Amino acid sequence: MDHGMPGPQGPAALARLVAETDWAATPLGPQLHWPLALRLAVDLILASRFPMLVMWGEERAMVYNAGYAAILGARHPAALGRPVDEVWPELRGQLGPLISRTYAGEALWFEDLEMEVARNGHPERAWFTFSYSPLRDALGVVRGLLNTVVETTDRVLAQRALAEREAELERRVQERTAELMRAEQALRHSEKLQAMGQLTGSLAHDFGNVLQVVDSGMHLLSAEGLTPEERQQVTEGVGASLDNARRMIRQLLAFARQQPLEPVAFDLSARIGGMTELLRHSLGRGIRLETALAEGLPAVTLDPAQLETAILNLVMNARDAMPQGGRLRLATGLAGGRPCLTVADDGEGMPPEVMARLFEPFFTTKPAGKGTGLGLAQVHGFVTQSGGDVRVDSAPGQGTSFTLVF
Ligand code: ADP
Ligand code: MG
Repeated sequence: MDHGMPGPQGPAALARLVAETDWAATPLGPQLHWPLALRLAVDLILASRFPMLVMWGEERAMVYNAGYAAILGARHPAALGRPVDEVWPELRGQLGPLISRTYAGEALWFEDLEMEVARNGHPERAWFTFSYSPLRDALGVVRGLLNTVVETTDRVLAQRALAEREAELERRVQERTAELMRAEQALRHSEKLQAMGQLTGSLAHDFGNVLQVVDSGMHLLSAEGLTPEERQQVTEGVGASLDNARRMIRQLLAFARQQPLEPVAFDLSARIGGMTELLRHSLGRGIRLETALAEGLPAVTLDPAQLETAILNLVMNARDAMPQGGRLRLATGLAGGRPCLTVADDGEGMPPEVMARLFEPFFTTKPAGKGTGLGLAQVHGFVTQSGGDVRVDSAPGQGTSFTLVF
């Protein structure tokens, strides 16, 4: 393989040029009188394909090879034998100190050093990787330097362009992500606002109902001639209505506060046993409540108020799923060694598309004024926050069972 450059700047041409130059007219003097060190160095660089330069003497006169001639551009061949300050006046400030250090005996190495050089008629930014090595005479005194230099401008520019493209790409990805996040947030915000609007409307309606029941209850109770049974019925109706209102308020508060849980250890079956009267009361006559509460279960550590709210939410849903009445089963037991609670109804059940969105806050299939869509969100939030999980089993017409595993 021959990497030699043909033409007037090829290695052979340059060697010829060096041989033919009238060195007597340069600071280096006639070639015949050159010290051995200078002659060896010049022989060495003329034989090298790396761009190389020798500076010699106090004038720092330059002798270089074909590779270096390419770096010189139009300054070649006039630069042969000329002092470096004359050849590269624009680099004087930058190179001067480095040359002085090399003349003082130091060997220097630079990677991708940026320089502004006048080439092709205008200043250009260029990068060079190069070394400066002191050249000593027979007495060991530094008389010049050997400079091996590779221009790295193309690589540096390519690397920079690549880095810029990467940065640009990254910036665009970030921008796009931020945009998407903003859009998503806006969407969620508007969905939330919409849901809040619905919720407010349905709550107003629900509370209106409660007030109406209480109001008419008061009227009835103050009327003359009620039998004790009738009186009892009215009182129960008012009580159930108030329970409903309390439940709604509890749900709302739980959501508004996202209250931290206050867990205590207790027996699941005992706690649920204590609730059955309240539950029976809120279920009404058409629904039979059956309980199967296991004894001797390991204690659970839960927030009892939240557990009661969750059970109420499940029971109310079961009631709503059995408008014609039915059977509601409350059971405790073990699932994989963990205490669990099942609330099962034989109501209308759920299609898969409802199952899929069950736990979403504000998701409800009930008419405005009946559902808040917060019940199962509370159940899910509470159970998962307590380290448990919720399992659902349901099919249209087959009833529904929720199991909370703690
Ligand atoms: P809400 O009861 O206010 O609608 P929930 O979060 O409690 O809100 O329930 C969400 C939806 O899940 C209900 O609207 C209903 O469609 C469905 N669902 C919940 N429990 C049952 C159940 N036991 N049987 C049938 N569907 C149910
Ligand atoms: Mg509900």
